[in-house]
Amino acid sequence: MNVSPTRRLRLAWGGATDQGRIRANNQDAMYADSGLFVVADGMGGHQGGEVAANLAVRTVAKADREDLAQLRDAITEANQVVHETAIEQPELHGMGTTLTALAVSREAESPQFVILNVGDSRIYRHRNSQLEQLTEDHSYVAELMRRGELDEDAAAVHPYRNMLTRAIGVHAEVEIDDWVLDPVAGDRFILCSDGVTNELDDSEIAEQLTLGQDPSATAKALVGLANDRGGRDNSTVLIVDVHVELVDSTDEDLPPEDDDSQSPILAPPDQPNLPKSEVEESSVEQGRSSTVKQRSWLYDRVHIKLGTVIISVVLLVTSVAMVTTIGWYARSGYHVTVVANHVVIQKGRIGGLLWFEPTLQQWTEIQTVQLTDQDLRRLADGEQMSDLTEAQDFVANLRTRLLEAESGS
Ligand code: MN
Repeated sequence: MNVSPTRRLRLAWGGATDQGRIRANNQDAMYADSGLFVVADGMGGHQGGEVAANLAVRTVAKADREDLAQLRDAITEANQVVHETAIEQPELHGMGTTLTALAVSREAESPQFVILNVGDSRIYRHRNSQLEQLTEDHSYVAELMRRGELDEDAAAVHPYRNMLTRAIGVHAEVEIDDWVLDPVAGDRFILCSDGVTNELDDSEIAEQLTLGQDPSATAKALVGLANDRGGRDNSTVLIVDVHVELVDSTDEDLPPEDDDSQSPILAPPDQPNLPKSEVEESSVEQGRSSTVKQRSWLYDRVHIKLGTVIISVVLLVTSVAMVTTIGWYARSGYHVTVVANHVVIQKGRIGGLLWFEPTLQQWTEIQTVQLTDQDLRRLADGEQMSDLTEAQDFVANLRTRLLEAESGS
């Protein structure tokens, strides 16, 4: 009897996600089953980011995804769903999400891996203790780096390192990168959001992967480490271990390839609620706290100088005059700049002055991904305006130009 062994793919996976130490909610989402692994990192005011990431992940998970063409269609559909939801619901305007996926394709004789990516979430492969980033980031700094205008050290601390140039849901159409790979036993894939890669460098990630813990423990360790380093963003990690078995093809007792003992992962398990709060809230809070700081400083002065009343009064009057003058200057005018991937109007001087931080005046639906390089650079630095009308006119012009460019292309 002629028995030819066949190769069978077995995957073991585990994931972890956390909102981190600073953010009020978790706008990351993830999904895992035996044939599909997805991480998404949502963005947009209100709860837009949460909604976008969840819609995208769920749409891809529900779609047909046997081969590369179907997988690309699934992501295109996710883009349409997020884009249309953002148009239909005003409170979700401008939402978007990254999406990075590792999937098993069945189009060839033996299974292959397909990687698809939009945005700056990443997929790495860990092989022979070497970590290799397989996806290309669609971010402003990554593009500057690809053009040789920025090195890795400068990129790591660049103030606009989180600005995306491509995202799911922002436009009616989206460009998707893809790669096809052969499965190799012993490979370990890491899917993660930028909350992990902004806190940890590649060598720290590699170190955790080399410890040889199971996927779930490794994912938890990486998310925990990102939190230890500051946890300034939501962080999400999915780990997939590749096992390839040679099996006797005539053995009919073998379970089918998809019949694995592991259960799928869907995080968050429920659709998040739609927005209630105002998007300006966090910035308004910042504005308030700088006012409080200024008051307590004056209060201390009064008490310390009680013994020399006259000098105190003179100092106090001078101080108040100075604070008032500087404050008036710092708070005068408006500027147009970029906050959390959106074009915004802020009250005050660019970058602030002493303890007078600029405060958010008006949020816009215009996202950094929609801007040309030239506009992005200009707004990243900020454009000072003399009054609110001038700032609003500037934004209106920008919006008109974007609409013209979009309908013209
Ligand atoms: Mn993020």
